[in-house]
Amino acid sequence: MAFERVRTRIAPSPTGDPHVGTGYIALYNWAFAKKMGGDFLLRIEDTDQSRSSKQSEQAIFDSLRWLGFDWAEGPDVGGPKGPYRQSERLSIYAEHINALVEKGAAYKCTCTSERLAELRKRQMSLKQPTGYDGHCRNRAEEVEEEIANGAAHVVRLKTPKDGETRFIDGIRGEVVWKNEEIDDQVLLKSDGFPTYHLANIVDDHLMEISHVIRGEEWISSTPKHVLLYDAFGWEKPAFFHLPLLRNTDKTKVSKRKNPVSLGYFQEAGYLPEAMVNFFGLMAFSFKDEREMFSLEDFAGELELERISLGGPVFDLKKLLWLNGRYLREQKSAEDVVQYLQTQLFDTAYLSKIVPLIQDRVEKSEDFFPYADFFFANDINLDPAWLQIADKTKKESTAVFESIAEMLDTVKPFDPESIGAGLKKVVHDNELKPKHVFMPVRLIITGKKGSPPLFDTMAVLGRERCRYRMRRAIAAFKKMKI
Ligand code: GLU
Repeated sequence: MAFERVRTRIAPSPTGDPHVGTGYIALYNWAFAKKMGGDFLLRIEDTDQSRSSKQSEQAIFDSLRWLGFDWAEGPDVGGPKGPYRQSERLSIYAEHINALVEKGAAYKCTCTSERLAELRKRQMSLKQPTGYDGHCRNRAEEVEEEIANGAAHVVRLKTPKDGETRFIDGIRGEVVWKNEEIDDQVLLKSDGFPTYHLANIVDDHLMEISHVIRGEEWISSTPKHVLLYDAFGWEKPAFFHLPLLRNTDKTKVSKRKNPVSLGYFQEAGYLPEAMVNFFGLMAFSFKDEREMFSLEDFAGELELERISLGGPVFDLKKLLWLNGRYLREQKSAEDVVQYLQTQLFDTAYLSKIVPLIQDRVEKSEDFFPYADFFFANDINLDPAWLQIADKTKKESTAVFESIAEMLDTVKPFDPESIGAGLKKVVHDNELKPKHVFMPVRLIITGKKGSPPLFDTMAVLGRERCRYRMRRAIAAFKKMKI
């Protein structure tokens, strides 16, 4: 039975800030469904409960809507194949896993984490590939007894040990994987939660997804998925793995080198039209080589087979250039007034800034000289600020890298936690507070005198602080001293 309808999906995990990669992959899924008169769905993959949050889920909805996407089915809009949040589908996975165990395609495993660690150590010392050795594959009775006596267990897929698994990637052609290289995947964890592999396949099947269009990082999971589809006896969707976004140095795009959260781009004044246009250019080109196009134009032109695999560079200069063109060529003066109003004079943002500077101003015009850095991206920067007195360049770099690290991870991003994080760096490196606080103030605000530092950083937000810090470190590293 072939799929009756084109159905695509974006299936983000709600961990942290929505990533530019999610916008990029969503575009191709949305556009393909649109072109084919099909459906585009949103599914939340929140099986990793410790890392998932409702806040991040809401931010995903907001960012995808900001970019201009809509979905026919999803956790917030409902639909006939719901629920669309994996944590609400546990009984569905349990039912399916039981069917696989009964068929003999999957098996329960009571191996302890100690045994698995020991096995891994042994395999590594013998320079063998690491992976599960199949210890519980053929001892179902004993395993049942151990479980009855209280042993924790997972369920694994019984992967064939010889032969090959093949699938067609619609962009690359045939992909062949040796079965001996495919581990007996854990499908159900000991806490009763499914792994990504199981939940993803069961959901794609039940939600009748016809085309799986996702990032290249999942390509090594696809042979496991193919084996799972076969174990269930289900028809497989068509697979397309899009090339990963890269930094200008060709490494995989990462928050260390570039801002990567969609929220950052929204706050920083990028237009959604420019963002989606930019994502479109990442892996596709129009036959007439046009560089500017709308979402609708893109949906009309897209052919998945014509996607190019050359590592697309997430080049901020190009994005800025596009943004400028949209602002100048496609917006009326009224549009720009509105844009400025939301970008610069947003009441919620101003309400956070004003208490920090109110006691320094006498008239409205004093506001900007004090608060300009709240509205800019690339502020005035002198890399020499990072040179700590009596420290080598290397030592100073290490101090600011640990601050950047702290800005990446500190939770919540509020004045108290930021202050505690900075004080810890001062303490751990046996520095004087001024050696850290003054340069951080300069890097973050471009000024020697600013409103209270920790409050200022909290208002600016994680992405902007992190960006300024990373940019300063990169400039300092390049500086000849
Ligand atoms: N939850 C996965 C993600 O975060 C989904 C990958 C897929 O599309 O299969 O991207």
